[in-house]
Amino acid sequence: MVLAVNPPVGWYAGKEKKMAKYLGNAFSLNMVSVDTFTLFRAKKIAPERVPTDAVSVIGHADTARVVGGILRREVPANRVTLHLQPGDELYVAQYTGPRLQEGATELPEGAKLEFFEITFVPAGCKGCPACDCNACGMMQWTHGA
Ligand SMILES: [Zn+2]
Repeated sequence: MVLAVNPPVGWYAGKEKKMAKYLGNAFSLNMVSVDTFTLFRAKKIAPERVPTDAVSVIGHADTARVVGGILRREVPANRVTLHLQPGDELYVAQYTGPRLQEGATELPEGAKLEFFEITFVPAGCKGCPACDCNACGMMQWTHGA
């Protein structure tokens, strides 16, 4: 049996079409237009969960090279101003450790690189019951969609 599902409305509508994926090394509030109320989700993920089609927005060549080494793929440096839309996914390679040497190709001693998936949603629909709301897509999002 196939259940009919109402098309999602609100910020969730058309998500599949306009969604973009980025790979960066930081997340900043100036990457989004924060409304009066915006929810962010940071989900720690394994490196292999970073989509291969995520566009690099890592500005520094050394950082891009080291991240590429962990992901076992080419990660070009790309210095851009990122502006995220609802539904976009930002994958953050969070580096912790000593300053990277110029020309570094791998993680220095004592350093670590963790990956996070950052997504956000603007305020829910009118009278939104938040994480229980199916009308604006909040429920799918809080459950990991
Ligand atoms: Zn809602």
